[in-house]
Amino acid sequence: MPDSVHAMSPGDSAPYDGHYAGDPFQVLSRVFGHQAFRGRQEEVVAHIATGGSGLVLMPTGGGKSLCYQVPALCRPGVGVVVSPLIALMEDQVAALRQLGVAAAALHSELPEGEARAIFRDLHEGSLKLLYVSPERLLLAGMLDRLEQLPIALFAIDEAHCVSQWGHHFRPEYRGLGVLSERFARTPRVALTATADPRTVEDIRQQLGLTDDPVFRGGFDRPNIRIEAAPRESERAQLRALLKDQAGQPGAGIVYCGTRARTEQTAEWLRGDGHDALAFHAGMDAGAKREAHRRFARGDSVVMCATIAFGMGIDRPDVRWVCHLDLPRSPESWYQEIGRAGRDGLPARALLLYGAGDIALARHRIEESPAAPEQKRIERQRLEAMVAIAEAATCRRKLLLRCFGEDTEGENCGNCDVCLAPPKMFDGTIAAQKMLSAVLRTGRRFGVAHLVDVLRGRMTDKVAQFAHDKLPTFGVGKELSDGAWRSVARQLVARGALDVAVENHGELVPTEAARPILRGEQTVLLREDMLRAAAPAGGRSARMGGAAPAGVASNDPVFERLRDWRRAEAQAQAVPAYVIFQDRTLAEIAAARPRTLDQLASIPGVGRTKLERYGAAVLRALEG
Ligand code: ADP
Ligand code: ZN
Repeated sequence: MPDSVHAMSPGDSAPYDGHYAGDPFQVLSRVFGHQAFRGRQEEVVAHIATGGSGLVLMPTGGGKSLCYQVPALCRPGVGVVVSPLIALMEDQVAALRQLGVAAAALHSELPEGEARAIFRDLHEGSLKLLYVSPERLLLAGMLDRLEQLPIALFAIDEAHCVSQWGHHFRPEYRGLGVLSERFARTPRVALTATADPRTVEDIRQQLGLTDDPVFRGGFDRPNIRIEAAPRESERAQLRALLKDQAGQPGAGIVYCGTRARTEQTAEWLRGDGHDALAFHAGMDAGAKREAHRRFARGDSVVMCATIAFGMGIDRPDVRWVCHLDLPRSPESWYQEIGRAGRDGLPARALLLYGAGDIALARHRIEESPAAPEQKRIERQRLEAMVAIAEAATCRRKLLLRCFGEDTEGENCGNCDVCLAPPKMFDGTIAAQKMLSAVLRTGRRFGVAHLVDVLRGRMTDKVAQFAHDKLPTFGVGKELSDGAWRSVARQLVARGALDVAVENHGELVPTEAARPILRGEQTVLLREDMLRAAAPAGGRSARMGGAAPAGVASNDPVFERLRDWRRAEAQAQAVPAYVIFQDRTLAEIAAARPRTLDQLASIPGVGRTKLERYGAAVLRALEG
């Protein structure tokens, strides 16, 4: 640890709640109650605390916040954190205040009086962390004001918002480049979960960080079990997932491809007795904020959302994420599933998709007005996503490979493929039968009718078109309906069939169908198992080691602690996890401390929390 970190003693800076310390390790343990830094946090913290700038790439849940919070507390002055979302800022501030850190959020929607109070604190030097929206930071006079004050650092959270390459471009972020000119001597740290190399370079350019180091955390999230399945019966599949998760504390997210679907799904889930909400970009700002708030505070709440629901999900206990439609790239999918299990406890990611999704996404790219180069990139991303969905080998390996992480020859042990390897069979003949059924019926029918023809079912439609007279009629009795649908989907995935999604969903053969029909190509197909969704909590065989054990939801002591926490959170109108996370409560329940000293040794119990809640926790333990 460089000397300058230790050299700063509490006396060197503005007053700070009695917690001020120049040593990152002391801040980590006393303020945050953590025993050790994770991954590259230590390196980043040392670099920033000693005046360096840089870019931090870490997966969601990797622990980015500490990378700027700890150095801000180690350095004199206020740490200014640029954050794109009010809900996110407010939750972060609430969590910091629980830790005894003087923090505030400044944004354009704040009432005058409150903004004035923040400025007063700022000038008195009593604030340690100031969260601010980019537009508020760049508003006339704000930077002039900051130039008069000691600034510990600037942190730019969700830094990918600065890049037009990503899906979350925010024009206001562009103006942040000015910080590198006006505050050249102040540490600037940009943070993002995006790993896409193009976006990363763009962030460095825009924010003037090209000469500063990039800290790249490992992208694996071993506690998230990854599963993908063809969408056979969406509601039954979702219901099975919810049933597995029943009784587990925490929240879930259902990602839907369209706004209408978010509302329909939420309504259906509410009818099924779940606390379900909808979220999409078409809602007004107030409704969005309310949904965010309810999601942050609800106990077993399910959010049905489009990808507009992303930033600002700070809950560490999202237990599962289910996609009802194929994501457009592994990057987006990874970001979205990364919202599960930030607390490190077992979590699940289930992807449901169909042949129609694949075809629709392909058509959208072809028809988009984007430049050819951009289309090529989009196409590559989509095909990588299709490959993951259809994978017959470890899905995590395929996913990590998209981020340049090669995990040599080993399987993760915590994806559905590793847990129950699918059987492959030579599907050349089946593929030929399907393709010839498509051709002989005139390329005008969807999969349902084609399956009827193959299986020799005398339906009205078959009779109407005299398809029982075709040589293909009834040649496919050896496979079930589901298996035939699977053959069709796999042919779509490998590009031998297209689905006319804009029309009636009829299957149309492509060029790639020819060599299959001519018998020049062997087609290996995956025997789809409609697996009963397995509960999370399995072992991760190698990558990242064993997945942690789940929270026992039937432990009465744990339940008592949660009841206490719920009441406390309600009384203070803050999300429950800012009081204590499930993980911390579970550790307390397991350790059954009898004294404050014993309680203080449990990870997640810092000094302020011990002072505030120690006695109440001990009482709750006694029952
Ligand atoms: P990110 O912003 O990268 O998504 P967070 O900063 O929200 O991640 O951290 C994710 C979770 O990990 C939080 O619940 C946080 O309390 C926990 N965490 C982060 N760093 C540590 C650490 N060094 N020790 C223990 N828990 C940590
Ligand atoms: Zn695997």
